[in-house]
Amino acid sequence: MSSTQIAKFGGTSMADAEAIRACVKLIESQAAATLVVVSACAGVTNRLVMLSQSRAQVERQRLGDEIIQKHNRIAEQLSADSVAIQKLQTLHQQLQQLVLSELPQSSLMQERRRDAILSFGERCASELFAACWRQYQPGALAIDATELLKTDNCHGNANPELAATRHCCQYLQDKLSQGAKLVTQGFIGSDETGQLTTLGRGGSDYSAAIFAAALNAEQLNIWTDVAGIYTTDPRICADARPLPEISFAEAAELATFGAKVLHPKSLKPAIENSIPVFVGHSRYPERGGSLVVAEPQSRPSIRALACRRNQTLLTVSSVDMLHATGFLARLFDILARYTISVDLVTTSEVSIALTLDEAGCQANGQSLLPEAMLDELRQFAVVEIEQGLALIAVIGNDIGHSGDISPHVLQAASPNPVRLICQGASRHNLCFLVADEGADQIIRNLHTKL
Ligand code: ASP
Ligand code: MG
Repeated sequence: MSSTQIAKFGGTSMADAEAIRACVKLIESQAAATLVVVSACAGVTNRLVMLSQSRAQVERQRLGDEIIQKHNRIAEQLSADSVAIQKLQTLHQQLQQLVLSELPQSSLMQERRRDAILSFGERCASELFAACWRQYQPGALAIDATELLKTDNCHGNANPELAATRHCCQYLQDKLSQGAKLVTQGFIGSDETGQLTTLGRGGSDYSAAIFAAALNAEQLNIWTDVAGIYTTDPRICADARPLPEISFAEAAELATFGAKVLHPKSLKPAIENSIPVFVGHSRYPERGGSLVVAEPQSRPSIRALACRRNQTLLTVSSVDMLHATGFLARLFDILARYTISVDLVTTSEVSIALTLDEAGCQANGQSLLPEAMLDELRQFAVVEIEQGLALIAVIGNDIGHSGDISPHVLQAASPNPVRLICQGASRHNLCFLVADEGADQIIRNLHTKL
């Protein structure tokens, strides 16, 4: 049994010298042998994305300079040693070369260039972290994630390969238990041929979970800018409170339905390997946090509430549907061809209502409801579109199997009409759709039942 832990610090935890020092102090206060995984300093990846897209060299230069200045300022405030200064200088020179390079012709070269540019945020951040850590632990070192985390070659959205990663990480276990102080980068890895890849925006949590699985870690600690997972968004409801414990299933539902703390995909490697995930505040670790585990001690019917805005409700009705077979297949085939991501579905004899999420559908650069798709639907059905809706998700346990939460839901929603309600597919959620304006008050009403 290994006692290794993984600690991941996100962009806001790496935002400036003071924040980085707080992270290092936090790690120093923990007893377990820990591999540290860091994100880029806040704002850096956004600038790198712009840099990678810009066709104007002056603009690329300006963005590159901003990033370099930011890192240098942090290095100075941390009184970084010459080792770190040297490494930063080398990284910055490499970035400068990319700033000067024009957009290549081939799409493969463009993707590689983009990943190379995006990687600088994490690579520089890990050197800054190591520099600060060395003031407490002289041997602390930044190690290259491209030599540890193996992925396929899907640039910009690479999929980690656990077996290969496990193989590359084998040596780390001993090193860490012998006391090595190591920090590596989230978000980046390399494919079979050693070409650098990135895991997609926000991918550092995912990296950290892969490292946790590869090292059979006893715990994954995600240090961020909130003290754990809350019962609901504290900006909506002042009574929201952190949850001491929550199941993987509930946390995944929460993330899916809009809570911003954990990337849903990032939970998977931890879930599959039964590794508990702790979420806490890097600046205020004393505030506690939430532990996400396979089997929490309590299993309340309502654990938390999530909300997703900007929902579109599409209602498709056809008299042809009466006693017909194949209507749903035909409808979903059309939606699939237009890569429309559907969330909730309810049906009646002659109609079907679906909710669509703007963010989910527009990730592929398409409009939410392409005209051509609507035309296809209109050939056999009447199509109605409603916008400005909010989807409220009640997350809990054994929903629809024990206890009865529906009276609470309907009472909290009253007098607002509930446009759609969905329960039964999962024991962990009940979702309903209301007009956006009413959503906050409904959440506050429902929260009193938690
Ligand atoms: N720095 C990357 C991003 O901003 C990865 C991460 O922070 O998780 O998307
Ligand atoms: Mg992040």
